[in-house]
This record gives sequence, C-alpha cells and structure tokens, in this order.
Amino acid sequence: AIRLESLTKSYGKVAALDGVDLEVRTGELVTLVGPSGSGKSTILRLIAGLERPDGGGILVNGQDVGSLPPHRRAVAMVFQDYALYPHLTVRGNLLFGLRVRRVRRGEAEQRAQQAAERLGITDLLDRYPDQMSGGQRQRVALARALLREPRVYLFDEPMASLDAPLRFATRADLLALHRELGTATIYVTHDQAEAMTLGDRVAVLQAGQVRQVGSPQEVYDWPADTFVAGFLGSPP
Ligand code: ATP
Ligand code: MG
Repeated sequence: AIRLESLTKSYGKVAALDGVDLEVRTGELVTLVGPSGSGKSTILRLIAGLERPDGGGILVNGQDVGSLPPHRRAVAMVFQDYALYPHLTVRGNLLFGLRVRRVRRGEAEQRAQQAAERLGITDLLDRYPDQMSGGQRQRVALARALLREPRVYLFDEPMASLDAPLRFATRADLLALHRELGTATIYVTHDQAEAMTLGDRVAVLQAGQVRQVGSPQEVYDWPADTFVAGFLGSPP
C-alpha cells in the first residue's frame, strides 16, 4: 500500500504539490489524471525517491520511505520515454539495477532471462535502445521494472507514444503484471477514457491538490466540484 500524507513540493515559487493526501491499497490500481502541470509526475518522482518532498510523509506498506534511496524503496517506475540507458544493451539495462542492489552475477542473469521471457523480449537482449521500436522499448522498461520486485508500481503516461493496437497489447501486459505482483499501482494518463477503464479508482489532481478520489462511476456521476465535472466531461 502507498500512503501520502500532506505532501508538499515547490520549485522556486511554483507550488507543484500543495498538500497531497492519497492512499492506494495493496492490489489496487489508481489512475491519476489532471491538467498539464497539475503535479502528476511530481507525485510519482517523490514516491520513487528521485526527488525529496519539502514536507509530508510517504509510506509504503506502513514504512516511512522518505529517507530511503530509490533502490531501497521496492518502487518501480516506468516513464513515457522509457528512460533506458542508451549506451547499454537490453541485457545491460536489465542487469544494471540488479548490480546496484548487489545481486550475484549468476542469479542476476537468471532473473534477467526470466523477466525477458515474461515480456517476450528474449530475441532483443543484445540490441541497443535506438535499435528497437517504441513498443519494444516499452516492454524492456516493463521487464526492468519487474526485476525490482516492486511492491509499488508507478507508470507515467507509459502509452503516450504508442499507436492504438500496441497500446492495447501493452496495457494488457501491464495489467497482468499488476495483478500477478499484487502491487499498489499508480497510473498517470492524459486520457480520461483510459483512466476510467483501467482504474479501480480515479484520482483527479488540480493545481497540486487532489480534488477527488473515487471509483470511475463515483467521480463521473458525482463529481466533487465543477472542475472535476468539466475535466471528466460529466453530464451537468
Ligand atoms: P504533464 O501532464 O504536463 O506531464 P504534470 O501534471 O506531470 O504535467 P509536473 O511535471 O508534476 O506536472 O509539474 C508540476 C509543476 O511543477 C509544473 O508547474 C511544473 O512546471 C513544475 N515543475 C516540475 N518539475 C520542475 C523542475 N524540475 N523545475 C521547476 N519546475 C518544475
Ligand atoms: Mg507529467
């Protein structure tokens, strides 16, 4: 489970997050939507430990992870642009995180192989990121995330650069991984329809604050305010 308590973060004079409270249960997938600049990516970066909050708490399965480095958080993050290391092959990209966590070489290779099989990318292990399609890179990113044995899975618009059929296939993979691992998952998307179909619950963010969290039907039928109604296109 993830629990965010009164999370705040500013960049200079910009208050990116202005007191965010959010709970994602173990096994639950919460989609996070909101306008550009509302703080979606900032929330994920803070949970992953890529940046530090100014205030508030981040709990993973009840443990305050605020002071832990990223590789000790059991949090895996998949980005829109995949964020693979361009100078490493797929195998190198998969092994990198395991080396950081000091997994022994033989075991690391075995686990990388298993993850590659799970995502159907064994024939790509010797390629570099710029020798693959967007969909292939996204599968590598999913495999790499899997190797972190995450308890928390974070996706930042992972489908944005994929075409419709590929998006459909990748979404199915991603959902299967979420269910298999039983993680607490947050999925950021610009696509309201995707947010509604994918999320057990939907969280709507505006100007660094969570305006509403609820089941897709709740937030659509009973929007908390005119912003949520307008953003989700609820009937008046
Ligand atoms: P998008 O949908 O466009 O990806 P977002 O909801 O993910 O937007 P964030 O990236 O979290 O928005 O940004 C929230 C606010 O913080 C924005 O006003 C943004 O300009 C600002 N911000 C984010 N990162 C930085 C940074 N490194 N330096 C300065 N300002 C930043
Ligand atoms: Mg963003």
